[in-house]
Amino acid sequence: MNAMIVAHDLQRTYTMGEFEVHALRGVSFEIRRGEFVAIVGPSGSGKSTLMNMIGCLDTPTSGSYHLDGLPIEQLDPALLAAVRNRKIGFVFQQFHLLARSTALENVALPLAYRGGIPTAERHRMAAAALERVGLGDRMGHKPQELSGGQQQRVAIARALVTDPALLLADEPTGALDTKTSAEIMGLFADLNRAGMTVVVVTHEPDVARQTRRLLEIRDGQLVRDVLTADAWPDETHAQKARSRRLPTRQQWRLPHEYA
Ligand code: ADP
Ligand code: MG
Repeated sequence: MNAMIVAHDLQRTYTMGEFEVHALRGVSFEIRRGEFVAIVGPSGSGKSTLMNMIGCLDTPTSGSYHLDGLPIEQLDPALLAAVRNRKIGFVFQQFHLLARSTALENVALPLAYRGGIPTAERHRMAAAALERVGLGDRMGHKPQELSGGQQQRVAIARALVTDPALLLADEPTGALDTKTSAEIMGLFADLNRAGMTVVVVTHEPDVARQTRRLLEIRDGQLVRDVLTADAWPDETHAQKARSRRLPTRQQWRLPHEYA
């Protein structure tokens, strides 16, 4: 089987004192190598909880999760950390760059965690990752000397430097303006075309429609799994989506709370 991700009946319950929050209520799906997927849904629907499972940052209360055939909830913490470092690149809304470090140093950091790679080699690999995201001329800059879009590119380079099989991004354009968001999504699309499996969490239709498959989650349940082009009511609108024209709210089939 060609599935990279196999999630079966994932449940995640957070206990808050006497209360239980059922963030995921039995979610099942598969993602194949090379897919470009958006996880969409309103705020609080469980998107980040699901992303943390996919990224092996959290384990389910019940259900099973396999990444590349590995039964994640059965791995010990050290092996899990190694799986994360080797297989997965993360991108977050708030970039999470070290303010006092240069772009090059930020990008080289995951290689230092891995250990066993000489400094010169780490810097060579970090430089290559920065070239790949179009920031070859900004390697010595610190985060505050870069625009929001450039900082997110640095974060993407940091995610890519370990050559992960899977790139996960949770609201990666949430802190960016529309034009910059489109550029960042364009970069994800380029990486996907080059073979990277990409999963992006978003509540923005403009962001989601640049992917190829939509998983919609609502109150902790998967309510829709469609090709992104089919999220528009007819071929005309699918063509418009492909030509990157903005959809109106009526053309976009997702409920109003995403817009
Ligand atoms: P989304 O990313 O779609 O906004 P989340 O996955 O962050 O949704 O949250 C889903 C639900 O789980 C929400 O009701 C949220 O309040 C709750 N939740 C998320 N993280 C925690 C946590 N660490 N402790 C308790 N409740 C949480
Ligand atoms: Mg979230």
